[in-house]
Amino acid sequence: MDLQLKDKVILISGGAKGIGGAISKSLIAEGAIPVFIDPSEKEGKELIELADGKALQIPMRMFTAEDAETAVKLCLEKFGRIDGVVNNAGANDGVGLEHGSPEAFANSVTKNLNHYYYLTHYALPELKKTQGAIVNISSKTAVTGQGGTSGYVAAKGAQLALTREWAAELLPYQIRVNAVIPAEVFTPLYQNWINTFPDPDKKLEEINQKIPLGRRMTSPEEIASMTLFLLSSQALHITGQHLFVDGGYTHLDRTL
Ligand code: NAP
Repeated sequence: MDLQLKDKVILISGGAKGIGGAISKSLIAEGAIPVFIDPSEKEGKELIELADGKALQIPMRMFTAEDAETAVKLCLEKFGRIDGVVNNAGANDGVGLEHGSPEAFANSVTKNLNHYYYLTHYALPELKKTQGAIVNISSKTAVTGQGGTSGYVAAKGAQLALTREWAAELLPYQIRVNAVIPAEVFTPLYQNWINTFPDPDKKLEEINQKIPLGRRMTSPEEIASMTLFLLSSQALHITGQHLFVDGGYTHLDRTL
């Protein structure tokens, strides 16, 4: 299947490591041009080398509207177009009802949600020209809950709502908007989290046993494959969808 992504310029928040890093790598393999907004120096450099220069790192931790506007500007200065946006940066920061505060909640929602809107808003004039596509990376916690992480989950749920909302608003421009929903993906963020348990290996094995298909984690590359498909011209009649790439974690009976 030819995804026809060659020379397409795709903006990715948090695109140097983990899921975003796998998306950038897969785009490079397809001859596309990832422009990744991510402060990670070492991984960023490796990606630029891999792409033979046909990529751009915007080395910032994006939170504000000004950050997003700057990222779009830098992308346009270098490559002159935007064909897709992948909103991906975020972190499960454990701000709960009991162990939290109104201020921490507001901060967590702001950090995990607002830049999805900001980046899309500033990229929109360019996406209209290219009839581009948007992919929002959400989380299974948006539909299952997790406990102890109100801010993150509120943001992840809102990302799913905005996927439908933007898909409706952008129909006249033929801009498609979809969400990919991972459950358990082994990334640097996940590694940090698993290391907080007294016996990380045992915890990891317990989690693997809860994943119906293959009793294993989803790989970052498997999330990237779905994301690239949704960005591509092979998905021209798919919009407003929430795609679970989770080995059946969210919907299948885990006692089987
Ligand atoms: P990750 O391993 O931490 O990778 C994310 C990358 O984004 C890192 O390079 C990080 O830099 C960077 N980053 C974080 N916040 C940023 C910001 N505001 N602006 C720019 N760059 C930023 O995370 P991941 O596990 O791949 O998660 C990616 C997305 O998938 C998140 O939205 C997460 O909620 C979602 N997700 C992940 C899982 C999972 O199992 N991993 C499950 C469900 C949903 P630093 O390392 O310097 O922070």
